[in-house]
Amino acid sequence: MFRKTRLFTPGPTPLLPAAQFAMAAADIHHRTAEFRALYTKVLAQLKEFVGTKNDVLLLSCSGTGAMEASVSNLTSPSDRILVLSAGKFGERWTALGKAFGCNVDLVTVPYGETFDLATIKAALKPDTKAVYVQATETSTATRHCIQAIAKVIQATTPEALLVVDGITGLGTTHFDIDGWGIDVLIGGSQKAVMIPPGLAYLSVSDKAWAAMEASKNPRYYFDLRKERKSAKAGESAYTPSVALIAGLGAALDYIAGQGGGDLAKGRIALVENAETCAAMTRAGLVALGFTLFAPTAPSAAATAVSVPEGLDSGTVVKELKAKFGAVITNGQGDMKGKIFRIAHLGFFDYMDTIALLGALEFIARDTLKLPIQLGQGLAAAQQVFADRKENQVLNNPCLCGRQTCCRS
Ligand SMILES: *Cc1c(COP(=O)(O)O)cnc(C)c1O
Repeated sequence: MFRKTRLFTPGPTPLLPAAQFAMAAADIHHRTAEFRALYTKVLAQLKEFVGTKNDVLLLSCSGTGAMEASVSNLTSPSDRILVLSAGKFGERWTALGKAFGCNVDLVTVPYGETFDLATIKAALKPDTKAVYVQATETSTATRHCIQAIAKVIQATTPEALLVVDGITGLGTTHFDIDGWGIDVLIGGSQKAVMIPPGLAYLSVSDKAWAAMEASKNPRYYFDLRKERKSAKAGESAYTPSVALIAGLGAALDYIAGQGGGDLAKGRIALVENAETCAAMTRAGLVALGFTLFAPTAPSAAATAVSVPEGLDSGTVVKELKAKFGAVITNGQGDMKGKIFRIAHLGFFDYMDTIALLGALEFIARDTLKLPIQLGQGLAAAQQVFADRKENQVLNNPCLCGRQTCCRS
């Protein structure tokens, strides 16, 4: 049997063919009118995709570069910052804060859980300069309610900046950046926008620009003020990843196409799509006897499940690749061997989801020796698809897509 390699990993994600063609054709010098036309178009599209009136900047680096920029540009040594950490990417905020000499206050919860709002409120101090959090913690496949967290900050320490790592949140979660007061929201190219790694983008509020003027931390390559100045002239400060920028333009055209030509509607379609794939996957895996790793706040970016006691999740990862060509991810850090993760963000659809669940039924039955019948997981997933209504997530009063979190 043929085995086509297919990525089901939460970054890099599968590539959009139209973006691949655009990248192959991007033989453009970055100080020319051709590039300025492309860059100006892509920055305007990005702003619409992210959904904000704030500036949106593009950096040639992986997502962590934009995370670093939002520490180095906004803080000074010995500034107090609050990190909300629930996994490996939350831990990265702490490491970055320490690297730039900040005093890091920390709210942590066990892997697979999300934050209690009262604990966040108690951790905010009058001199808290900025709060750093993930929208979706990819290592545990958990979603944090940014709307509710923003509300707590506004009510407690309205001066504090809110910096959100939306690297897997963008395209899988609804954000009202201007309405909620998100000062920085970060995205990455290898996630929901369906192109290879190498670009990061971020929205920056007026409040954040003002903080940058006062910041005393060193910065050179990631000086966002310099990047903004160049962007206004249609260029980037240094040689950018021209091919990736061309690919990003094609991907944003595709997303707009999914919304009938309207990029904001296309983004909503992208989120709804991820939600549907995630809901089908959760139902299918639970029906096969797996346990959700983040049952109270599952993300639509990826799904993490625990394997039954005594089994190794690495076996599932290995066998799925060997037998079916499908690449999923093991847990990171302490979660290695205990969970596996399946991505839904970006270029996935119903067909991909059903096929992967079908393959996982064989792994569950033949490799893990779970007492299942073929079709058992698929039936549950099919039912979720059949029951799902258009705009289900949008019609939920909670904009983060969950039933109860921010209404309380
Ligand atoms: C992928 C990812 C990152 C960025 O990682 P890079 O390897 O630097 O692109 C950061 N945060 C989250 C939540 C992610 O999923």
